[in-house]
Amino acid sequence: MDHPVSKIVIVGGGSAGWLTAGLLASQLSGDADAPVDITLVESPDVKTIGVGEGTWPTMRMTLKKIGITETEFLTRCSASFKQGTKFVAWSSGNEDERYYHPFSAPAGYGELNLASYWQDQKSRVSFVDAVSFQGHLCDRYLAPKQLATPDYAFVANYGYHLDAGQFAGLLQEHCTQRLGVRHIRDHVTRINGAPDSDIRSLSTASGVDIEGDLFIDCTGLRSLLLDGHYGIPFVSRAGSLFNDAALAVQVPYSEPDAPIASQTTSTARPAGWIWDIGLQSRRGVGYTYSSAHTDDEVAFQTLRKYVHATGGPEIDTLEPRKISFAPGHREQFWHRNCVAIGMSAGFLEPLEASALVMVELAGQFIAEECPVDRGSMSLVSKRFNKLFRYRWDRIIDFLKLHYLLSQRHDSEFWADNRKRETIPDSLGERLELWRHRAPWLTDFPYQDEIFSAASYQYVLYGMGFDTRVRKNAHHLTHANAAQRFFVENHQAANRIIAGLPANRSLLNTICRQAQQV
Ligand SMILES: Cc1cc2nc3c(=O)[nH]c(=O)nc-3n(C[C@H](O)[C@H](O)[C@H](O)COP(=O)(O)OP(=O)(O)OC[C@H]3O[C@@H](n4cnc5c(N)ncnc54)[C@H](O)[C@@H]3O)c2cc1C
Repeated sequence: MDHPVSKIVIVGGGSAGWLTAGLLASQLSGDADAPVDITLVESPDVKTIGVGEGTWPTMRMTLKKIGITETEFLTRCSASFKQGTKFVAWSSGNEDERYYHPFSAPAGYGELNLASYWQDQKSRVSFVDAVSFQGHLCDRYLAPKQLATPDYAFVANYGYHLDAGQFAGLLQEHCTQRLGVRHIRDHVTRINGAPDSDIRSLSTASGVDIEGDLFIDCTGLRSLLLDGHYGIPFVSRAGSLFNDAALAVQVPYSEPDAPIASQTTSTARPAGWIWDIGLQSRRGVGYTYSSAHTDDEVAFQTLRKYVHATGGPEIDTLEPRKISFAPGHREQFWHRNCVAIGMSAGFLEPLEASALVMVELAGQFIAEECPVDRGSMSLVSKRFNKLFRYRWDRIIDFLKLHYLLSQRHDSEFWADNRKRETIPDSLGERLELWRHRAPWLTDFPYQDEIFSAASYQYVLYGMGFDTRVRKNAHHLTHANAAQRFFVENHQAANRIIAGLPANRSLLNTICRQAQQV
């Protein structure tokens, strides 16, 4: 047999490194025929990025696979439940205007495309309220489940808000103490192996050599292995997505028992948008903006005004942190025996919190498809590169959708975002189709599409996009069934609202019970 892949070395101990370690160790170790040894090396000198607080519902399954209980996760990471995103002032710029992109699919999804039937009633009810009860839960700061609902199960689909530093700490403890991951705290100074061949080993500042068969680059924006060693080119996507900076602060609640929002709130501003994420202990707030359309001082004042208006203190006292990034990704993600996961593979503004889910998907791909020997690695890497390039393209399409549908005229940022040359062809073509029919499953051919037709529907119709549906025979035949779904959704909303606790109250109870055990 060819050289077996039995030693995996992960470089980097941020969320990407530890999530990958957890996914691999929980699924690959314990195979007596092909044992896999996992080592994670992280530098004591290079801090993790320390942001990244919103997840997708996929995180529930990821944590379950890794073997962390939901109670442990919620109590250790100051985590809260996230049921989607509320977009404020995105369409016209009016501060009262808002819509939700919830995590639950529309009623009847997969059976009947309710977006087609909603068009007749759009002056009376918003799309999200017609097809989902989740916006009502978010409006009322309600949790997506009850105390008796089992770990990771739900009444309404949800992901999390979490403290990134505490999350990496919990994963590290779990991976090293329960999953057998070897942890080395040392700075990687040299990568051994010619640039036109495999990496053999890594040398560290304290003189240790770490050998491996597969190296996973989780070194964040440095991209030490894929870029630094192999020089894999960066593909800039700044032509479509302009945001390249963020100013982040941690905001205390005005009182300890303040309600915890059950969604991320994203408020459009003249040169970008502000995220607002409620954890148990504090809020995470930040302005993501385009440095070509504003400067740091104006960005600071924009964030300051927002924090003040939402009950926070003066932000000078909160040590705001600026983070710069280039929107884009590597040309390839897996080259020879090196694969980049996390920010080393690329980064796009966190508008739909799509970074951690890409880490989960990449880690899961390797756990499932891990090549048994070096010979089969080329085939696996080819598949990985193709799939993940597809996913980056789809994320760019979906993020761009939010901007190009906006009618805001208050700054060049919004006007530039609507320029034809900034819109990917793949998105422009779909938009043309959706002028005559609503997005549907057939528009996205893969089973695990990163953004589904449901997500497109929520954003398109939340932003006021016009679809002129043809009322053909098929449409008319199912009109009664569609009406039934609308009525059932309305009835379910009333029932479910009455049965769910407040987000804060459920989290307090879970944490209190955990302390008593
Ligand atoms: C403003 C902002 C907001 C974001 N919000 C979200 C969000 O809401 N949701 C979401 O999913 N994602 C979000 N992200 C992305 C998310 O933060 C990252 O994807 C996630 O934290 C993973 O980062 P990482 O582990 O790749 O990199 P990092 O956290 O930067 O970790 C890099 C690691 O590499 C190590 N390292 C570097 N050099 C060396 C060396 N020479 N030797 C050894 N080790 C080394 C460091 O010590 C560190 O441990 C956001 C990002 C930004 C910038």
